[in-house]
Amino acid sequence: GAGLAEMTQLGVPVPAGFTITTDACRAYMAERDVPAGLEAEIDEHLAALERRTGKRFGDPEDPLLVSVRSGAAVSMPGMMDTILNLGLNDVAVDGLTRTTGNPRFASDSYRRLIQMYGEVVDGIEGQRFEQALTDLKAKRGVAHDTDLSANDLDELVETFKQMYGGRFPQDPRDQLRRAVRAVFDSWDNPRAQVYRRAHGIADDLGTAVNVVQMVFGNKGDTSGTGVCFTRDPSTGEQGLYGEFLVNAQGEDVVAGIRTPEPLQAMQQRLPEAFQQLLETMRRLEEHYRDMQDIEFTVEEGSLYLLQTRAAKRTAAAGLKAAVEMTDEGLISREEAVARIDPSQLDQLLHPMLDPGATYDVAATGLNASPGAASGKIVFDADTAAERGEREDVILVRWETTPDDIHGMIAAKGILTVHGGMTSHAAVVARGMGKPCVAGCEALSLDLNARTARIGETTLKEGDVLTIDGGTGRVIVGAVELVPPQINEDFQTVLEWADDIRRLNVRANADTPDDAKRAREFGAQGIGLCRTEHMFFGEDRLPVVQEMIMARDEAGRRAALERLLPMQQSDFEGIFEAMAGLPVTIRLLDPPLHEFLPPLEQAPDEMRERIKQLQESNPMLGTRGCRLGLQYPEIYEMQVRAIVRAAAAVRERAGEPPLVEIMHPLVGFAEELRRLRELTVAVASEENDVEYLCGTMIELPRACIRADEIAEHADFFSFGTNDLTQTALGFSRDDAEGKFLTYYLEEGVLERNPFETLDESGVGDLMRIAVERGRAVKDLKLGICGEHGGEPKSVAFCHELGLDYVSCSPFRVPLARLAAAQAALSERGAAYVAAGG
Ligand code: PEP
Ligand code: MG
Repeated sequence: GAGLAEMTQLGVPVPAGFTITTDACRAYMAERDVPAGLEAEIDEHLAALERRTGKRFGDPEDPLLVSVRSGAAVSMPGMMDTILNLGLNDVAVDGLTRTTGNPRFASDSYRRLIQMYGEVVDGIEGQRFEQALTDLKAKRGVAHDTDLSANDLDELVETFKQMYGGRFPQDPRDQLRRAVRAVFDSWDNPRAQVYRRAHGIADDLGTAVNVVQMVFGNKGDTSGTGVCFTRDPSTGEQGLYGEFLVNAQGEDVVAGIRTPEPLQAMQQRLPEAFQQLLETMRRLEEHYRDMQDIEFTVEEGSLYLLQTRAAKRTAAAGLKAAVEMTDEGLISREEAVARIDPSQLDQLLHPMLDPGATYDVAATGLNASPGAASGKIVFDADTAAERGEREDVILVRWETTPDDIHGMIAAKGILTVHGGMTSHAAVVARGMGKPCVAGCEALSLDLNARTARIGETTLKEGDVLTIDGGTGRVIVGAVELVPPQINEDFQTVLEWADDIRRLNVRANADTPDDAKRAREFGAQGIGLCRTEHMFFGEDRLPVVQEMIMARDEAGRRAALERLLPMQQSDFEGIFEAMAGLPVTIRLLDPPLHEFLPPLEQAPDEMRERIKQLQESNPMLGTRGCRLGLQYPEIYEMQVRAIVRAAAAVRERAGEPPLVEIMHPLVGFAEELRRLRELTVAVASEENDVEYLCGTMIELPRACIRADEIAEHADFFSFGTNDLTQTALGFSRDDAEGKFLTYYLEEGVLERNPFETLDESGVGDLMRIAVERGRAVKDLKLGICGEHGGEPKSVAFCHELGLDYVSCSPFRVPLARLAAAQAALSERGAAYVAAGG
């Protein structure tokens, strides 16, 4: 609605109409009825529309017809409902025939109204209408609905009316009243709910209803309808990008029922409207200073714009468009950085087909959404949702509809037989960053037998298929996938982000390989190196077990003596990979029994010890520094290995590594006081390497008593995984898939607190720790829980004034961007891109 109003003001050709706002929808949802005064206001605006168009609603001679379209503040393609040609009835259809001199067109418009109205307002199954249309086409022996005559369509109108018991609602004002309610209701249909959840859109925004004079793309060969983008939504490249269907109306393009022609085809068919469209696309992009997604209709040669909005785009396209628009002088670097959606960048870090792999391409469709995926074929969304929880599946459909949304979310990739680049499957997959190949016409499906055929090959449900959404390739069987590289546009935007952000970004990395990858992604150090992973190595585990099984301290020390050089070489590798950058090494955290086999599988001699070590709540048991205090020889060995490694690397590289030794699960100042003493004592026995000694802050008590703990710490690193677990009393291992899933589905909680920081709870504890800790000394502060790579949580850490966030290597680029955006929004310079 806002887009239509703005376009009207720009002088772009837009049909006349009015918008019922989202306020009305919210009032309707709250009161379960349209708010008082709305109907009178609608009447008033309808009268204005009649004056403006010179047509009257329900006029048997020259009826005003309107479209009744949903439209939310955030684009939710195809999720809500729309009705076209509203205002037609048994007499008005004759008026339409007379004024247009086109009986076929009038009948086609009427049958479409009954079909859409029946489905949306009266809940008649859409498939019944489709089936009647398919049957009639078969009876007439024609392939397309455009081949049906006026008489055929009249017959279809009669068939459709039978589904209404013979009489379709005839009063146009009544049609409108009910249609408005139905569009409001569609805000809460299941697919819209699923879509909102998947995209983090609030449930209480509501939809507007746009009531707009109909313009007709189905008036013959000088009419048509289409969708276009001002830049390629897959790559971001400039150029002509869109699709067009001659003699068709509204939803035909998006629904993927007929495969449309490329926009270029419009140049020959409708040259004047085409030129005007190009000019309008350019103006709209300049006006909005962002890539636009435009719907248009041509009625007997005249162009009308029906919608414009910031285009949904792949991450790669978003980056290219942002860089090029900056080069073109359309936007600033800050705006370019602000409008990239960090969580979408994940897409670029998705697998591609291994360029070295050999495979046969079984079929090629449209490269609708990039990325590659292998998985087992499933033929319907319910199966995809169900099997997708356990294994990788590819959803294979004739075409997708908004009702398939849950299956699309669960699938690794989507393959459709019909539909173009702007079909539902393509648009939704791009938004989700899922690979999609659309319009793969070489494929045919037998949904009863649950098989797919490509040429001579028949595939069953469960057979493995690979799709490459970047090239449109479909391959039978699995193909090796590789992680992609950060391309030039990505690099450029990240460098701009680096100039803007204040937060440093480190990585959680346990091996030299991870450390190297993290550096390539721009990590400025390691914020968490979990040493337990080194204990699990094949050559280490038996020694670790020997240490645990030892009867006394002397036995433990003997085993630890053998672990020492192994640990030392691990640390050397990591220090070398991170030369010049800080590395935080955390001493052993998990309870010891994790290193022993399960009781049932354990050899006899281990069983007694396992029983001793078993705990009812191991996460709240003997782990972290509690272990280190009880068995100081373990931490002594680790500290010795760290400082020896640092000295060896200093020797070789000529430059000392920046070492930070971190103690886990501290809750009491006294714990850290003792551990610091241990650390200092061992290190000074060894050499003169410099290091910082600090602690994880991952217990509520540690936050509250951060002042006392700070006395013994050089730095704090928030372990928000454990802090969330302990502050909320939600088991990290038991919540997801159980009650937490229920909570999220039922809206008890809006977000998963293990993914997005619970700002008002856990976040407040962090705030207390920051204030109390920094009141004692100038502490270095960071976060190394999973939240350190989640954009919203990164913004919160910026606000808190932390020095750095640390996250898994693959999320480092996201965190760099999110940190820049946090800095920008602090400056007040950022704006949320409508398409972001
Ligand atoms: C944490 O608790 O947030 C943390 C980083 O430590 P771990 O996940 O290893 O318990
Ligand atoms: Mg922890």
